[in-house]
Amino acid sequence: MSSKIDIPTLFVEQMRGELGDAEVAQLVGALAGEEQPTSIRHNPHKGYTSLGADSTPVEWCQWGEYLAQRPRFTTDPHFQAGGYYVQEAASMFVGHLLSEAYGGELPEGVRVLDMCAAPGGKSTLYATMVGNKGVVVANEVIRPRALTLADNIMKWGLGNTIVTNNDPAHFAGSLEGWFDVVAVDAPCSGEGMFRKSDEARTEWSPDNVKLCAARQRRIMADAWKALRPGGVFIYSTCTFNRTENEDNMAWLCSEMGAERVEIAPLPDHWGVVRTVAEEAECFHFYPHRTKGEGLFAAIVRKGGESTRGKSPKARKSPFAEVDKSGLRTIEGVLREPKQTKVVAIGESIYAYPAAHWADMRTVCEQMSVLYSGVRVGELFGRKFKPDHALALSTALRTEAFNVVELTLDDALNYLRRQELGNIGALAEGINLLTYERQPIGFTKRIGTRTNSLMPKELRILQ
Ligand code: SAM
Repeated sequence: MSSKIDIPTLFVEQMRGELGDAEVAQLVGALAGEEQPTSIRHNPHKGYTSLGADSTPVEWCQWGEYLAQRPRFTTDPHFQAGGYYVQEAASMFVGHLLSEAYGGELPEGVRVLDMCAAPGGKSTLYATMVGNKGVVVANEVIRPRALTLADNIMKWGLGNTIVTNNDPAHFAGSLEGWFDVVAVDAPCSGEGMFRKSDEARTEWSPDNVKLCAARQRRIMADAWKALRPGGVFIYSTCTFNRTENEDNMAWLCSEMGAERVEIAPLPDHWGVVRTVAEEAECFHFYPHRTKGEGLFAAIVRKGGESTRGKSPKARKSPFAEVDKSGLRTIEGVLREPKQTKVVAIGESIYAYPAAHWADMRTVCEQMSVLYSGVRVGELFGRKFKPDHALALSTALRTEAFNVVELTLDDALNYLRRQELGNIGALAEGINLLTYERQPIGFTKRIGTRTNSLMPKELRILQ
């Protein structure tokens, strides 16, 4: 087993015990090798379809695509505008499980909680799948990571998602039995990331595997409480060992009484290895068998009578109504004003899908929220200042603004927050800027100058 990357010896021993000699040699060969496939997932709500003629589909995700080369994503305006998300291919499989659990179609009013969500790969996938049918709560306990998550959700632009910064125990306490789907993409020992991350290799130890497994059980127990009876529970890690994967699922089933979710046979050529732990259907992605990094995913249903927990009473509401003239202004910039609930939080105006406003309000009143719905902008009397988030949102009515299509160079200047060159095309006041017809932000022209409305912290530095 010659390797360019040092794979921990005790890890090899551990996996030899689980997989046998021949398979472990292949696994270590793949982990120590150089091949690192690049994949992205499109944002179908923004109409984004493909990056390259020589890219190939990710078979378990209709929006997934392997790229032949790794481009510089940072300097692609479509990436900055949430046209696609750079996501490791195996991770997209959780969407396949969710789809299977509901026979292909998620139900109207569905409530999804992604408990360990930063930086947002799986949350943006769930948000795509939920679309206008329901609500996704993307939670992250570590604040700086939750802020990154909020930026990514804002860029994805669907308006059906709430970003929270809570400990899993808060969900168990305040929203018990409230969610139809709870996903735990648990912090883990990261064996599946060995070829991508030096840190994953150097921090790995048998003791750390045990520590991770204990922490995972605590998160799973809280997450389980937030799930309604009859609801779907999806557990995933990016590690291979049984302790953090099958053993935890077996523990969940025996302690909590989970039921089987039938998952149809997968095509052999996907290379996914199926196992069973009590009632849990389990799936392993190994890099020597599938094109992607390591992933474990499992699914069960919560037993018991199929009812939702009652929505709790509001603790304190962050929302205020917007007056009639303000509403008229805001409705003018929205694509579907009749289907949208518009409210104020402090100085900012937010928009929510009206059909799910009650659910979104409940979460916002109970949890520590960093972003929700779409931040539309601010009203100063009759004057309206749009927020960057509105430009990247599918709720935007583009015709409400003077639209200026930019060249690649100008789009990059804008994204770097540099002065724009083509001032002649810009109308006095607010302009919506697009690149290949995809909105990328607003700028305000005042005479010969432009003021970017893109927040400084989002500017690209390359
Ligand atoms: N789901 C994310 C995605 O697809 O982009 C990746 C999530 S990552 C595997 C696990 C996350 O769990 C990290 O963001 C980490 O900060 C968070 N985490 C760490 N400790 C936690 C805890 N005690 N409870 C809940 N989440 C925790």
